[in-house]
Amino acid sequence: MAITTRVRTHTTIDRIRATPDHGIFNPRAGQTGELTHAEIETIGAASLAITASLNMEQVLATVAEKVVDLIRATACLVYLLDRNSGVLQVAGGHRIPDTYKGMTLPLGEDVAGHAARTGRAFVVDNYSAWEERTHIFDNADQAGVLPTANCAAAIPLTFNRQVLGVLEVLYIDGREISNKDVALLQLITPHAATAIAHAQLFERSQQVMNLLEIINDRGAAVSSVSTAVINAGHDLKKMSDETLTRTVAALRLAAGRIFLSDHDGEALVTRSLYNLPADDPGLSHVAAHCASVRQTVLLQNMTAFAWSHDVVQWLSERRLGALVAVPLIAEDEVVGVLEAIAPLGRTFDTGELDTLHIITGQLALGVSNARLFTRVRAEQQQISAILSSSGDVIIGLDANGRVQVANPAAEHALDFAIIEAVGKPLAEVTLNVALNAAVDNSIKTQQTQPAGFEVQLANDTYLFCNLSPIVDPTGRLTGWVAVMQDITRLKETERMKSDMILTASHDLRNPVNLTMGALDLLSKRADNLTALQKEALDLSLLGVHRIEALIKDLLDLERIERRVGLRLSRCDLTEIAQTVVTELVLTAQQRQQQLVYDHAGVRLYVRGDAQRLYQVVSNLVSNAIKYTQPNGVVTVTIRASDEQVRLEVCDTGPGISPEAQARIFERFYRAPSVAADDRGTGLGLAIVKSVVEQHGGRVWVTSAIGQGSTFVVSLPSWPEALSTNPDDTIPMIIRPVTAQ
Ligand code: ADP
Repeated sequence: MAITTRVRTHTTIDRIRATPDHGIFNPRAGQTGELTHAEIETIGAASLAITASLNMEQVLATVAEKVVDLIRATACLVYLLDRNSGVLQVAGGHRIPDTYKGMTLPLGEDVAGHAARTGRAFVVDNYSAWEERTHIFDNADQAGVLPTANCAAAIPLTFNRQVLGVLEVLYIDGREISNKDVALLQLITPHAATAIAHAQLFERSQQVMNLLEIINDRGAAVSSVSTAVINAGHDLKKMSDETLTRTVAALRLAAGRIFLSDHDGEALVTRSLYNLPADDPGLSHVAAHCASVRQTVLLQNMTAFAWSHDVVQWLSERRLGALVAVPLIAEDEVVGVLEAIAPLGRTFDTGELDTLHIITGQLALGVSNARLFTRVRAEQQQISAILSSSGDVIIGLDANGRVQVANPAAEHALDFAIIEAVGKPLAEVTLNVALNAAVDNSIKTQQTQPAGFEVQLANDTYLFCNLSPIVDPTGRLTGWVAVMQDITRLKETERMKSDMILTASHDLRNPVNLTMGALDLLSKRADNLTALQKEALDLSLLGVHRIEALIKDLLDLERIERRVGLRLSRCDLTEIAQTVVTELVLTAQQRQQQLVYDHAGVRLYVRGDAQRLYQVVSNLVSNAIKYTQPNGVVTVTIRASDEQVRLEVCDTGPGISPEAQARIFERFYRAPSVAADDRGTGLGLAIVKSVVEQHGGRVWVTSAIGQGSTFVVSLPSWPEALSTNPDDTIPMIIRPVTAQ
């Protein structure tokens, strides 16, 4: 039994005739009717064929072919709508010229544009005469499928109520499409639209997959290069070779090369090559240019570049395509260049360029680290050679006073083995009291000023130790270096010199006193003397007084240095300073100066000899007054800081040059700028230094020419634990110290 399926044809067709009749009439135009079983079967088969594939190109080709077969059309075009730009683009077709592919048509234009905009089938009879027909295809096809068509019909391809594109059929053989044919097409287009939607979805998921694959590949390339850089350690050749091999493999390059800068950073030297001779006919110029502009240089089409004919031939013989040169930049310095060359016909995409940038970044860092390491190692070797050959005792300490380095002279002098000493606090390495105390003090006070002191060894050898802080570029204190020189012979000479001075001073004291007494007597009975004789007498008296003061200071210094009569007890430094200020305030006033005493209002105690400490403060304040011009200000400040009491004498005087500052505490040293009138014995500061050091303290000066000077004395404070009872303080009867 034959089954007849009857389907009503659609009536939603916009149909126009391009030119008014002229007697021509399309007999099939209005033809409608019911579909036969055979027709439905054909549609079913066509639909099955159309939806059988997920490949867009194939889907479109099948759709067009089946449509042409179904209604015996001359040709069929399939447009897809680009939602972003709103234009229709020819994506496929059957019996259309290849040149149509990719051509675009704005929405609303021509048959297809009209159908896409209205969402309804649109038929134009006598199309070639239609005034609104598009002319975009006129030049694309000399034979002229579309321009010569006598009937064009377009059916929108709708999926999920959205127009995906348009199916357009053409007749050029005089036939025209019937409404029934359009209805047939309308039955097939939903299947075509579904197949296209699925193919689009598939295409997108394919793209995502590809992207993921690429990302994965590039991630693997980057991590493989990272591993190579790390594994190469400080071997630059290995690092460069491995990086190139892995980059070539990961990016499927045809050739590649890595240049690294030479030691001066002046020239690029080839380090690694892949599939390139060392002397290519000019590709290295690209690397040189890349290094000089410090930017990536990309030549996607090498043969289009202004090479000579020979180079172009050379490139094509080796089947070399796009070239990219990427600079290796570390710490703002170009350390090399990586050149990557793709096979002929391939260009570099942005993903590959990004990968290359990451790889070169890693390599640059690796190269710069390796070079830094080599430099540091060379410097270390140099330093250790200097340390070993030096006769001076040298010990390097970290910020906690732990031994970092020491030379053989140090091992010998302080009797330790460096292998056991490294990492230990100095106090555990040597029992030398002076050295340990100085280091201990520097750590506690985080001393950033160098300190100089004597160190006596068990065998009566004397060393002069210079303990200098090590400060990093950020200003952080990272440790100290102690350099000690043998001054035993110097000390011996010093001792002999001072013995001689002592003897001479002693011997001179009596005759000078006698002369002074005689001159004093004379000056009291000077009535009969002429003015000239009186002047000569005054000058002689002044000279003898100077000699007397000098002898006094010299003997004094000797007594201090030999610690003769040094009596240490709890002294109130605030009271000593107060006494000095009270005594000298008049002198300051006479010089129209202001003498200010700035104390914290609490008593600050030190362990010391009150007479000697008085001498220290008095010398410093007298100097400040003496060297500061009238109307200046002298300020005496006392403060407690970190188990130390700090006395500062600050003036607004002429200041002291850096050269003079370095020598100012030497005996008899006077700054060249000081006026002759102001001269004292030149021993004041030497006495100050000697007394302060006998008390375990330090004295230094900070000054700049024209900006005044500040003398600082830092003394260990009286330990609270020993006594807090003020009655323990020795009552102070301070008198000027005289030589005995
Ligand atoms: P003097 O007996 O010459 O004062 P000192 O040992 O007390 O000897 O000082 C040494 C030198 O230091 C002085 O000659 C002077 O050049 C310089 N000096 C000391 N104190 C000051 C100061 N407050 N301002 C400028 N120069 C100073």
